[in-house]
Amino acid sequence: MTGPAYSIVVPVYNEEDNVPKLTKEITDVMSLLGKPYELIYVDDGSKDGSLEALKTVRKGNANIRVLVFEKNCGQSAALEAGIRNSRGEVIITLDADLQNDPADIPLLLEALPPVDAVVGWRASRQDSLNKKMTSRTGNFLRNFILREKIHDTGCSLKAFKRHAVERLKLFRGMHRFLPALVEAEGYSVVEVKVNHRPRVHGKTKYGFFDRFRATASDVFAVLWMKRRVSRYRIREEI
Ligand code: UDP
Ligand code: MG
Repeated sequence: MTGPAYSIVVPVYNEEDNVPKLTKEITDVMSLLGKPYELIYVDDGSKDGSLEALKTVRKGNANIRVLVFEKNCGQSAALEAGIRNSRGEVIITLDADLQNDPADIPLLLEALPPVDAVVGWRASRQDSLNKKMTSRTGNFLRNFILREKIHDTGCSLKAFKRHAVERLKLFRGMHRFLPALVEAEGYSVVEVKVNHRPRVHGKTKYGFFDRFRATASDVFAVLWMKRRVSRYRIREEI
């Protein structure tokens, strides 16, 4: 059985007020693209009405799938579950909070053919000064330690050819290092400037210390992984 052209994977944790509008925005842009797709929501143990909201949108659209975690396990786990259970040739990821703009999906797809992954770069971020500063410092440190040049590793809006992500093991916090992990496997990544919007409903799940701690310690784990990764490719089976 061949899968759809696109799988859109969206982690959801307490985003009840964002689910209806997000679904409309995603399905509108996917209909314009005119190819088979699946929209996979991963409910990461939400404690608000997100699951009900997801059930409601799923009723109206057979392309929508909803994976429900037993309990909250974090954004990386939700992403990994969505990716592992997806069937599309291309996997697109974005946040559920409407900060990423689904209208940018065609931009990512246009840039994808010659590379393995396209990652969004929120050139004009609509976040608090505190969050922008933490993120900027985090990106600088990551690039310095990992010797990379990714402006915005934290932007969740990304598109991958399936082979570039299907083998990744996303330990907690690793969603912040996806470009580095994909490049470490020997795949190519380009950045595309994307829109960014303020969060209107719901709250960010990370405070200053979550972000800081994550960057400060995880970056060394990623450095170690980059040094030890085995980039094997099976030439043929005889
Ligand atoms: N999220 C999740 N599990 C968590 C925390 C966050 O699935 O434990 C989802 C959340 O619903 C959103 C995305 O991950 O879709 C990014 O979270 P958030 O917007 O809070 O992060 P920020 O944009 O502030 O970095
Ligand atoms: Mg957000």
